[in-house]
Amino acid sequence: MKSSDYFEQARMLMPGGVSSPVRAIKPHPFYTKSAQGSRIATVDGEELIDCCMAYGPLILGHAHPLIKEAITTQLGKGWLYGTPCPLEPEYAGMVIRDHPGMEMLRFVSSGSEATMAAIRVARGFSGRPDIVKVEGGFHGAHDGVLVKAGSGATTLGIPDSAGVLADVVAHTWQVPYNDPDALESLLFRHPEIGAFIIEPVPGNIGPVLPEKGYLQEVRRITRAHDVLLIFDEVITGYRIGIGGAQEYYNVRPDLTTLGKIIGGGLPIGAFGGRRDIMECIAPAGPVYQAGTFSGNPLSLAAGMATIQWLHAHRGIYRELDSAGKRIGEAVTGKGGSFVQHGSLFKFFFRTAPPRNYREVKECDTGRFSSFWSAMLKTGIFLPPSQFETNFLSAVHNEADVERISDAYRSCL
Ligand SMILES: *Cc1c(COP(=O)(O)O)cnc(C)c1O
Repeated sequence: MKSSDYFEQARMLMPGGVSSPVRAIKPHPFYTKSAQGSRIATVDGEELIDCCMAYGPLILGHAHPLIKEAITTQLGKGWLYGTPCPLEPEYAGMVIRDHPGMEMLRFVSSGSEATMAAIRVARGFSGRPDIVKVEGGFHGAHDGVLVKAGSGATTLGIPDSAGVLADVVAHTWQVPYNDPDALESLLFRHPEIGAFIIEPVPGNIGPVLPEKGYLQEVRRITRAHDVLLIFDEVITGYRIGIGGAQEYYNVRPDLTTLGKIIGGGLPIGAFGGRRDIMECIAPAGPVYQAGTFSGNPLSLAAGMATIQWLHAHRGIYRELDSAGKRIGEAVTGKGGSFVQHGSLFKFFFRTAPPRNYREVKECDTGRFSSFWSAMLKTGIFLPPSQFETNFLSAVHNEADVERISDAYRSCL
């Protein structure tokens, strides 16, 4: 059967034919038969260079032998216990040591769960009901963060999804990225705000890069207003370096959420931060949070093997950065703008690099979509949206980067 046949079936069985909306490529998505290293093999017999990498987790590429070995070894010992296991304190210790803003953490099963719990504990700790997020910031698919941007400098959210109560998002304010003044004046006016959640480098509309001093200003302002700062590092954690954005930009958040890379390709999330805040979590404190699959040994084993590899190969971040820069060089003079941070990169169909969500939305999505199809025809799989970042992995080699660069040159 071909991809179109599978999709024909899937459409009758699953809404939109897919398990997550971004995968619903038109007229039909390709179906993956297997994946290895930087390559995806489709059921249609094509081999693609993957620049999506499952939207971020696969920093060591597909089916890395070391991760496979870690998973296989753990499989032999069982894959779900419902009791604590030694991997938990061992891995928690590693992740905490790597992140200046973490003194304690809890493992969960997805990034969405991590941000949901981080927001809950922030409310429980501060006793204040409202939160602020960045316009275009993505923190998973739960009610309080599914908020569409309005049009003022600071906006109160309207639901981004049917089924989300206006009453719920009425507690979610939004500010534009790279605009510390908007944050400051909002916090002045609304003492009921207890937390600010931000992707330090927005990856779900970008990457969009922080202007010099922006994240430091965010820290100063939130501290001055006694508002908890939550860094959502589900993408940036171990992606822009060991220690994520908090290490790279030297800004210490009160709470941090992680996911994607820390599961080595298996489902995971984690949230952590200051000890006094984290001790509010049940059973230590009054904020409830729980999960059947939380801290499951298979995800921990895969994640820990990944992080150990990254520690042993710290030079990889410099190599990934120069690979990203080489693609950037290939597209100079092609109109539009190229934005890159290490292994995150994107070509925007907009003359100047966007500074925030509103500017990202000015991109020519029609041109993006023909460009995207042309790239796929030449054998390069990019995330199918102008608003999703592209990813490189440690196993994209010189030849892959060369082919990606050539494809960009010819398709643009
Ligand atoms: C992917 C992502 C999430 C959600 O993680 P899931 O594991 O898909 O639930 C949250 N925040 C950010 C910044 C993400 O990129």
